Amino acid sequence: MKFGGSCLQNRESYLQVINIVNKYIKSTKILIVVSAIQGMTNKLIEFYEKSCSEENNCDELIEEIYNMHIQLVDDILEKDRVEYGETVEFLQTNIEELKHLGRLIRLIRPSADIYDLVVSYGEKLSTFLLSKYLITTGYKSNHIFSDKIIRTNDNFGRALPLLEETEVLVKEKLYPLLHSDKNNLVCVSGYYGSTKDNKISTLGRGGSDLSAAILAYALRNLFLCKIIYWKDVKGFLNADPRVAKKTSLIRNISYKEAKELAFFGAKILHPLCLDVNEKGKIPSEVRYFSEPNSEDFTTITKEIVKNDDAIKAITSIEELSMVTLESDTMVPLSGTASKLFSLLGDNNINIVFISQSSSENNITFGIEYEDSTKVSFLLRNSDFFGEKWFKIKIDNDISLVAVIGAGILYTPGIAGKVFTSLGDNKINILAIAQGSSELNFTAIIDRKNCRKAVNVLYDTFITR
Ligand code: ASP
Ligand code: MG
Repeated sequence: MKFGGSCLQNRESYLQVINIVNKYIKSTKILIVVSAIQGMTNKLIEFYEKSCSEENNCDELIEEIYNMHIQLVDDILEKDRVEYGETVEFLQTNIEELKHLGRLIRLIRPSADIYDLVVSYGEKLSTFLLSKYLITTGYKSNHIFSDKIIRTNDNFGRALPLLEETEVLVKEKLYPLLHSDKNNLVCVSGYYGSTKDNKISTLGRGGSDLSAAILAYALRNLFLCKIIYWKDVKGFLNADPRVAKKTSLIRNISYKEAKELAFFGAKILHPLCLDVNEKGKIPSEVRYFSEPNSEDFTTITKEIVKNDDAIKAITSIEELSMVTLESDTMVPLSGTASKLFSLLGDNNINIVFISQSSSENNITFGIEYEDSTKVSFLLRNSDFFGEKWFKIKIDNDISLVAVIGAGILYTPGIAGKVFTSLGDNKINILAIAQGSSELNFTAIIDRKNCRKAVNVLYDTFITR
């Protein structure tokens, strides 16, 4: 199970955790992946950033971080328990460490690995706290910190897991804890692991989802595993409620489809965690923390559940920019495309879609709206593209809408239906793109039509 920050904010939410654990513990062992308490990662980032600039005195922030934890400790642990003393001591030691770190940062200047070390304290503290809390409520709980068992590369801030090496560490250090009769619960800190030279490395924001996926992967041959991601939503919806007038819950979805959804805007799970679940064939559920007994939740499995609905969801990215490179002369585009995408890739520009017209003298691609100025600068100042034979056009007022579903693979005429329904509603399509996975069909339209397009497509494919 993975519990996020919104599940760890006050006495009521910790009682709810117990409520959930109670329900499942009768029939299984539980590994709990713990996020930082609500709001803590942001606070730690603020602390790190302030520590980098000399002018600021960070002691106030440290005090705030301490207070946020101690208030919770006082709220949920009884003072006469040994666990109370242990937790307060652990908290104080770590807060002292953080304080020292802050002072060091001022001397050594910003560095990605120190950033990761600083922000990892959120999970370290919350994991210790939750495990002790579980003991005071009668469980046989133990904890282990994830730098001992999750190995990553050294891409600090967004490290990628090294699954084989993690599996070895998990077998050696986590398995004995889970297997032992002394525990029926083990808490593991989410969000971070460590590199081969034992530096703490974080998996990117929302990374605790990924931690859960990694651990299930590493345990898959030792236990029959299932992951439950406890969230503040019921599961995956078939459209973004901020955009679509109607939405409903998707009850069954395959990893492949869920990945498309995650890519096009539904940020319910860390995008990589679906890849890891798929690789390990681990079934998982996204469930609503506030209603653990509800039958409304999303199950994600390897199998694509085929039903009459070709299209499972309509998604959109409202703010996008579209770049068109046009060559008047016959510059061969094979070489051009590779130069173009290496230039952008080397500069960390994320390409959202690519579409090429059949005339072969232009390439159109989508980028994040925030990257627009940077891309314009990169292209106009590059030796190759800045030359006079390329026309560069950047359109900042576009949106992307996509229909998603494994049904696209088997159902003819999806594209036609998208064209007709948008056309009938006077929505002009500027470009189209289809992902190589063939699980989505994407249309690029003017931003002013985005909401309308989502609703039109929803009615065409889902409500009917
Ligand atoms: N605490 C981290 C974050 O807020 C990781 C997580 O919540 O999954 O990004
Ligand atoms: Mg979080």
